[in-house]
Amino acid sequence: MNINVISLFPEIIKASLKGLVGKAFDKKIVELELLDLKEFSHNEYGSVDDAPYGGGEGMIMAIEPLESCLNTIKETGRVIYLSPQGQVFNQTKAIELSKLENITFVCGRYEGIDQRFIDKYVDEEISIGDYILSGGEIAASVVIDAMMRNKNSVIGNSESVKNDSLSKGRLKGHVYTRPNAYKNQKVPKILLSGDHKMIEEWKIGNSLWVTREKRPDLFKQLQLSEKEMILLRHYEDSIKEK
Ligand code: SAM
Repeated sequence: MNINVISLFPEIIKASLKGLVGKAFDKKIVELELLDLKEFSHNEYGSVDDAPYGGGEGMIMAIEPLESCLNTIKETGRVIYLSPQGQVFNQTKAIELSKLENITFVCGRYEGIDQRFIDKYVDEEISIGDYILSGGEIAASVVIDAMMRNKNSVIGNSESVKNDSLSKGRLKGHVYTRPNAYKNQKVPKILLSGDHKMIEEWKIGNSLWVTREKRPDLFKQLQLSEKEMILLRHYEDSIKEK
């Protein structure tokens, strides 16, 4: 997979993608090309923005530098503009993007980019939520990180991805580590039992319960099997007994 990012501040993206995702870049499992838009200015001042036609606040990123920069990319693949005006990003979209061979992200700044660049080159606009950031770099990092978690070769343990919150339409639920008793708080006994089947069933019951408590909107969309309903009821009974 090749990921290209066009940005005025590529160092923000570089610094934010560390850990497992960063290692995938270091090992060249995924190629990341960061293009610095400042190098594509079309004027003597080195700027890439200009005042908006029709007046109004702020500056607009001009089409020429963006086009010149895009033209240096061999295979752009799907061109995505990070924008608060796009569809809101989610796990389904992360999985979809993780299957692409080539992808190019365009990060805006100021009051955004000239519409003509969007009309001509952008395949899709993605927002990471209903709020305004100062630039698209953090949004691009969010999308790249989430997307890369869904590539088998990036996360060593693919079970961990399958069980991530939202991958099955529900939240993952509670997790614990040593010590098994801390002050007056104990780890649920079943997790220490070594009985894999019972532990698996507890995890499903707990995950469904947590989803209902924290995200009733998601829970409503789930179509529970009879077995899952029973496991949820067992889990509820087990916490009532406490
Ligand atoms: N004035 C613009 C508007 O209201 O649509 C917002 C411009 S914003 C200050 C600058 C850049 O940040 C945008 O071009 C976009 O690339 C990025 N950005 C801001 N909020 C975002 C969000 N929620 N999701 C993705 N990108 C965002």
